[in-house]
Amino acid sequence: MCNFKCWICNSLNVSKIKNGLDKNITPNDFNITDDRYGVTLPIYKCMDCKFEFCPESIDLNRMYEFMEDDSYVESSKSRLIQAKKIAKYSDKILKENTKLLDIGCGSGLLVKAFKDLNHDSYGLEPSKFLAKEGMLDDLKIYQGTLEDYDFSNEFSFISLIDVIEHVQNPKELLNQINEALDEKGYLLVITPRRDSFFRFLLGFKWWHYRIAHVGYFSKKNLFDMLEDSGFDIVDHKYPTWFLPLDYILNRILKYFPFIKYKFNFSKEISLPINLLDSCMVLAKKT
Ligand SMILES: [Zn+2]
Repeated sequence: MCNFKCWICNSLNVSKIKNGLDKNITPNDFNITDDRYGVTLPIYKCMDCKFEFCPESIDLNRMYEFMEDDSYVESSKSRLIQAKKIAKYSDKILKENTKLLDIGCGSGLLVKAFKDLNHDSYGLEPSKFLAKEGMLDDLKIYQGTLEDYDFSNEFSFISLIDVIEHVQNPKELLNQINEALDEKGYLLVITPRRDSFFRFLLGFKWWHYRIAHVGYFSKKNLFDMLEDSGFDIVDHKYPTWFLPLDYILNRILKYFPFIKYKFNFSKEISLPINLLDSCMVLAKKT
């Protein structure tokens, strides 16, 4: 037993299940393309709802503010295909010229995809480096986090793509999103799912165990938290990702450290990949 409370169900039945880095952590440890799988902060588990999380104190906002990640910008081509898919899926439920916000927008790929579908598209990004990339592209990007702005009933749609696993206050973030959405506004969330086959197969070597991830949700954890925060689940699926071929191959090699080889294909070649280990949920403000 320890003194940490579960972020999902508030249970105190929480135990430490994995040691991790707890000193000399720098913003570079938080790079989106960090590939040291299995290297995490210390992980705790709620024995009631099985949620795994990293509650030890760390100034995450500062880490993201100063994160610079060139290889993320390099893999933009594939990420743009992904962004277009997400925008197209969301567009089905959106009215014309919807005012929307992508939280943790990186260099603004999804912001651009929504803009191209004629929506009034905004992004919010804590990293100064990535926010600037997006601004150079003439996109409407706010630098910072929701706490830095006073949005109330402002947006009809908010997306949170691979973000909620990076924050130490996920429920508070959902409450702020609820406030920023107008009546009957929609929220789209994507996050890795802990109850996946590959998590089961690889244990703590699963690729989503990374320093930057501080919350590990099952599909049920995510549903419960959304419903607790004033949202109804409208739809859910396991999204397909698009990644550069050499990125996929080099990441697979990470699991065979005795092979000293690096693939170097053109960054233009992208492959769809769906290992069913991400969960996408569309929810509506109740
Ligand atoms: Zn719990």
